[in-house]
Amino acid sequence: MNYQNSLVVTLLIICVVPNRSVAESSVAQRGHPIKQESFGQTKDGKNVELYTITNSHGVEVRAINYGGIVVSLRMPDKNGKLDDVVLGFDKLDGYLDKSPYFGAIVGRYGNRIANGKFTLDGKEYSLAKNNGPNALHGGLKGFDKAIWAAEPFQNNQGKGVVFTYTSKDGEEGYPGNLKVKVTYTLTDKNELIFDYQATTDKATPVNLTEHSYFNLAGEGTGDVLKHELMLNADRFTPVDKTLIPTGELRAVKGTPFDFRTPIAVGARIDDNYEQLAFGGGYDHNFVINRKTGDLQLAARVYEPTSGRVMEVYTTEPGVQFYSGNFLDGTITGKQGHVYKRRYALCLETQHFPDSPNHPEFPSTILRPGQTLHSRTIYKFSAQK
Ligand code: BGC
Repeated sequence: MNYQNSLVVTLLIICVVPNRSVAESSVAQRGHPIKQESFGQTKDGKNVELYTITNSHGVEVRAINYGGIVVSLRMPDKNGKLDDVVLGFDKLDGYLDKSPYFGAIVGRYGNRIANGKFTLDGKEYSLAKNNGPNALHGGLKGFDKAIWAAEPFQNNQGKGVVFTYTSKDGEEGYPGNLKVKVTYTLTDKNELIFDYQATTDKATPVNLTEHSYFNLAGEGTGDVLKHELMLNADRFTPVDKTLIPTGELRAVKGTPFDFRTPIAVGARIDDNYEQLAFGGGYDHNFVINRKTGDLQLAARVYEPTSGRVMEVYTTEPGVQFYSGNFLDGTITGKQGHVYKRRYALCLETQHFPDSPNHPEFPSTILRPGQTLHSRTIYKFSAQK
């Protein structure tokens, strides 16, 4: 077929085939297609779809449009062996029944809001108290339990899925219709990129994050105490016993919270230090060292047996390092694996917890006319 003919055929295809098919066929043409299949139904009969994205190294991400959950993430070790490095379930039921936010997009407000209350522009708002006296992770039915619209794509950066969701004015007590778009991109550099965008028609707090539970030795293989962690943070936000920040930005120097040079997660986790007692280990927001709002390396994790490395880059001001302290062996996850205490760690990039009640923290208030943009990259590699 000569150039002109092929142009005519291409134009015909573009005109005749509806948009979605064009997107899917163009994704399919370039190597590994994004596979879409059913992942079951919610209790109220909504279909949940599973998207499988593979890059040129065989790295694979599987995500569903329930909660935008990353259900598996297969990454190579130092010998090229692929293992699933995130906790989760084989079937949808696990996510519906008892998931502690495994792999989900968390919102409208990730992390805690004290006493489930905040005041904005002179008006007090009340949220469900779903974590002791506090509100946690967007409420009883947060973004992690929503059905998102999903559209696969491919561009010159990589391949992925765009998830969109409109959270209604008043949903879970938050003001304003909030339109949220989260783009997941898998690149050939073994990066998993999350691009967040949001707009609103009334002022509202917004704090979006991704809640994967990582174990770089492979999910279900043991605890993460020997993972070596670097956190690019001179300060963290100490909390009260209900895990609400006191407002202090405390220097990590001389404390078990100093991860500025890499050290095993377990090296000091049971030290006699009040903040560790409050969290049952690490469950704290670290203030990322940064000069600009650009992407900044926030964390680096190295797992010595597999050699896997994960780097976290973000435009956010904070990262919650949670060492899986509340996993207690009551959850059986993928392949019958029992998830015990500290079998995973989370690095949730975010604004600081309880920011709506802390005017001194970077603001989480989104107003009409503004667009929230935020980016986080989880970049994987392996070293011998
Ligand atoms: C919180 C933990 C909580 C976990 C699951 C983390 O973001 O900091 O305290 O147990 O999410 O809800």
